Amino acid sequence: MRVLSILFLILGIILTAKAKINVVTTYPYIKSIVKEIAKDKVNISSLSDGKWDPHFVPERPSLAVKLRNADLLIINGAQLEIGWLPPLLKRANNRKILPGKAGFLDLSTLFELIQKPTTVSRAFGDVHPQGNPHFCLDPVKIPKMAEAIKEKLCILNPKNCSFYQENLKNFEKSWNKHLAKWNEKMKKLQGSSAFEYHRMFDYFFLRYKINVAGILEPFPGIPPTTSHLLELLKLAKSHKISFIAYAVYNPKDPVEFLSKKTGIKAFLLPHDVNSLPQVKDIYSLFDEIVRRLTE
Ligand SMILES: [Zn+2]
Repeated sequence: MRVLSILFLILGIILTAKAKINVVTTYPYIKSIVKEIAKDKVNISSLSDGKWDPHFVPERPSLAVKLRNADLLIINGAQLEIGWLPPLLKRANNRKILPGKAGFLDLSTLFELIQKPTTVSRAFGDVHPQGNPHFCLDPVKIPKMAEAIKEKLCILNPKNCSFYQENLKNFEKSWNKHLAKWNEKMKKLQGSSAFEYHRMFDYFFLRYKINVAGILEPFPGIPPTTSHLLELLKLAKSHKISFIAYAVYNPKDPVEFLSKKTGIKAFLLPHDVNSLPQVKDIYSLFDEIVRRLTE
């Protein structure tokens, strides 16, 4: 009898585990938002590590396996994954999660992109051919993404829909409280000018009225040349530049060169969840950006 009940218990655990849908996200920030809405009702994993260059995630067989077993794939979109996701999707051969299917969600469709090029300059190696894809760094955009994720989860997993709805409501409330705090702290940087390595933080700077006076990369994805750095040096002499922003995967040398020559502070800012040890979720991503810029 005891053996039988243990068997039923094991069977129950297996069935419950199987009942959970598998959600795969391209980046850790999306995984963190899914976690806020779904909690432990779904299995969630991210393909990219937060410390990697989001434009070029290294191909690994384990990533194709994750995609093969996925019920839902959520991507950033706006061509941020164009350099690495298509071959993985091909290898995974999972029709459920292809664009246009129920198991696919592209977050970029929710927003109007900035910096849309008038002529596509992919010939130069431009990694932003459709416009700037780093909209996730505008904290005001996060609740809209959370809502789209909730809607998708409700379609694929209707029995937990009211649970997701409730979590979304709580998330929005809590997010707005954090947002008010970030807005207050960021006031002191309003109207200031900055350089950045890549056009990574433009949506964040736009939100807080920080002027991007120069980019170390001459084109998105193209490393700085000496002549371009000298131009920025000249610019820094005639304009007040408050700081230089760069991400963990950007080469440090050109940033340090500019910083030393001009005396402008360089700030390493997190660009995704897990890019720095203290950035463990979507809240601490913005906590840390704001803290580094304002303290
Ligand atoms: Zn980019």
